[in-house]
This record gives sequence, C-alpha cells and structure tokens, in this order.
Amino acid sequence: MLLRHTSKEIVNRKALTINPAKTCQPIGAMYAALGIHGCLPHSHGSQGCCAYHRSTLTRHYKEPVMAATSSFTEGASVFGGQANLVQAIDNIFTIYDPEVIAVHTTCLSETIGDDIPQIAGKAQADGKIPAGKYVIHANTPSYTGSHVTGFASMTRAMVDYFARSSGQRSDRINIIPGYVEPSDMEEIRRIAVEMGVRIILFPDTSNVLNRPQTGRYEMFPKGGVTVEELMSTGDSRTTLALGRLASGSAARALDTRCKVPCEILDLPIGLNATDAFVDALRKAAAVSVPDTITTERGRMLDIITDMHQYFYGKKVALTGDPDQLVSLSEFLVSIDMQPIHIVTGTPGKKFETRIREITGEVPHRVNIGAPGDMFLFHQWIKNDPVDLLMGNSYVKYIARDEDIPFVRFGFPITDRIGHSYFPTVGYRGGMRLLEKILDALLDRKDRDSPEESFELVM
Ligand code: SF4
Repeated sequence: MLLRHTSKEIVNRKALTINPAKTCQPIGAMYAALGIHGCLPHSHGSQGCCAYHRSTLTRHYKEPVMAATSSFTEGASVFGGQANLVQAIDNIFTIYDPEVIAVHTTCLSETIGDDIPQIAGKAQADGKIPAGKYVIHANTPSYTGSHVTGFASMTRAMVDYFARSSGQRSDRINIIPGYVEPSDMEEIRRIAVEMGVRIILFPDTSNVLNRPQTGRYEMFPKGGVTVEELMSTGDSRTTLALGRLASGSAARALDTRCKVPCEILDLPIGLNATDAFVDALRKAAAVSVPDTITTERGRMLDIITDMHQYFYGKKVALTGDPDQLVSLSEFLVSIDMQPIHIVTGTPGKKFETRIREITGEVPHRVNIGAPGDMFLFHQWIKNDPVDLLMGNSYVKYIARDEDIPFVRFGFPITDRIGHSYFPTVGYRGGMRLLEKILDALLDRKDRDSPEESFELVM
C-alpha cells in the first residue's frame, strides 16, 4: 500500500534517492566489531545515530546489540568530540571492561573532522586505556558508501591495528567471510574443519549474534575472533577473502603489511562459488576434499536436477549488497533462472561489469542499478514483471503491491527469523536457498493452478 504511488513512467533522477537500497556505514562497522571477542562497538556521534544502528541490528538478529556512544550535544557538534570520547573510553573500560573498544565515526563527527587516532592517543597518554586493552577505529561517514563499506573499513582496521608478523609462518589460513550472517560464518568454519584446515576467521559473529538462550545475560558472549588470533593473522600461510567489496581491503592490507598472499573470491553462495571456495581452500592448505563435502555437493546437485523444470526460464528481480548479488545472480543463472532487474544501493562500476558478464547469456534485457533505489527497482518490475522477488524485508511492500512471490535474502530481514541460524553459504546453504525459492514458486503455482492441473506430486 505504501508503494501504490510508484509510477510506471521512469524519469531520470540524479539528485534524489527514493527508498534507498542500502543503509548507513556505521551499521556495518558495528556488525564487524561485534565479531571480535570481548569488543564493545562505540559510535562517535550523537545518541540518535547509535540508537538507530543498534536497533537495526537488534531487529535483524533478534539479539540485544550493545554499543556505546560519544553522546554529542551542541558543544561537541561545534567544537569537536575529543572530550566526549576520552571520557567515554574511561567510562567504558571502568564500567564494562571490554578487551577492545571499536570506534566508528558518524556523519556528524566526520563533518567536524575529528581525528580518532589523535583522540585515542590522548586517552592513552592520560592513562585511560588499561594495559592489554585496545582502542581501534574506522572512518565511516554515511554520506558516502553503505553498510558494506562500513563493514569493510572495520574489518580492515582489525588488520591495521593488530596484524603483525613474527617472521615464522604458521599452517593456518585466514578467512575473511564477508558481510554474511553469523550462521554463514559458522558454516564456513564447519567446511574448513571438515576439510581438516586450520583457520582464523575474522570477523566472526557466530555465537555472538545467534547465541543460545541460557537464561543468563552476557555482555560479551563467547564467540568472536580473539585479539591474539587477529595478531597472528600476519603469520598465516594465506588469506581467502570472500566478497570483493567487504573483504578485499583487509586481505590486501595483510598482504602489504605482513606479506600474507591473498586470494579474493566471491561469497560461496551457489554451486559454482562454493566449488571455487572449496577448491581454493584445498589448494591453500594442500588437503583433499573429504567424501562428506562431496556428498553435500551431490545432494545439492540432485535437488537442482530434480526440480530444474520449475526453475527454468523464471524471471527474477533482486536487490541487496554487491557481493551477495554477484554470487546470487551467478547461482540463479546456473540453474537457468533469469535475473533481469538487479539493484544495489552501494555504488560500484566493477559490480556492474561483473553482473553484465554473469548475465551475458540471459535471453532477456537485464537492468542493473548500481547505485539504484527501491523506487527504480519497483518501476522496472512494473514495466517488465517477474516471477520472483529476492531481497531484504523492505521488498515485501513491492511483493504485496505487485502480487509476486518473494524470498527474503540479505540485510536487513526484520520480519522473519531463520537467517541467523540457517546458512545460505556452502552446499548445505545452497540447498536451503533452493528450498526457499522452490517453496515460493510452487506455493504460487498451487494457488494459481486450475483444478485439473492442481498436482499432488511435483
Ligand atoms: S546517515 Fe549519518 S546521521 Fe544518519 S544515522 Fe547514519 S551516521 Fe547517523
């Protein structure tokens, strides 16, 4: 209903975004910071920003997300937030005792031009940072980039602040999992363990944002990569970065800083991208792929073959984050579906080129918006209807307005559960994704079939 006023006629817009297909940088930075064990994210700006970022993450993960704020008022907004941040660092270490405070900036503190390393240096000089504790930072002005670039910057900060080389190579492989769910991070680790590969996964939000109910609140849950592990990433044999945009910068920084070579791969969503990940892991660690993993692959392939007739030729409109859209589009094309409207709010020329390559054989005109917004996405759907929508919870308005089956995928998903517990990466995750797509398509087929073709067996 909210979108009933979306017009079919498309007018070129340059200076106006309507219903953005992204959210702001600090949300991604906060999410990444929660993937460090014992870390309290800190928002250097006004209370309103911090409340919004926490509530967005809380609504998506259905877990209480803790973060501190510099609580800017008029004075800090004019003269800068140094006094607030120094005071905050003192209070946080005194009251909550985290291992790390991960500071990210906001539009306001970036516009003022606050220099976080200088302020942290002052806090150190004033004795506000206890021995063995750390303050790290990422610059995350939200008038540029998106939650994905914020995630990338905080992940990069983990390398800049912690990685060091002892001169002795270990047999471990660094894996930077990209902007994915805690369940996905868990699955990536499971695959590596199954293959007998020792890894350092960073960031790692599993057991932080999908922790079990124990009846006892823990400010710092047991999950997350430890500072010690982050320090030893500089000694690892190699780094696999999953997702160019979210993980590439940290992987390249490790290479430059500690000479740890890196390979940048797509997120392992779908058959081909998971094959590439498993193969890269196999080569990097010089191991062979165990039968258990081959069996999972075979099962996924079996679902694709059994149900191919229902995927074939179906048109899909999808919106989300660039790294996810790249793998998802490739997956859809590989099962003979046709992604024809693809929108991300995160700008990027390379993204567009990549999607053009992936959809090159799709026998239909493909619209790519990078950056685009939900309004344009809806207009494209009105002009060229599709069989399936995929995207975050905001897409539900378009799904209802146009009466199109909808699979929730990406961030944020605020009206369903499951994403933090069941992965979509790897072969098992791929099976779940296939099930979700099939359920949506077959439920619609059942609803719309005339009585004579209302089938019991599909
Ligand atoms: S866009 Fe800027 S001002 Fe708005 S919530 Fe995000 S950081 Fe704060």
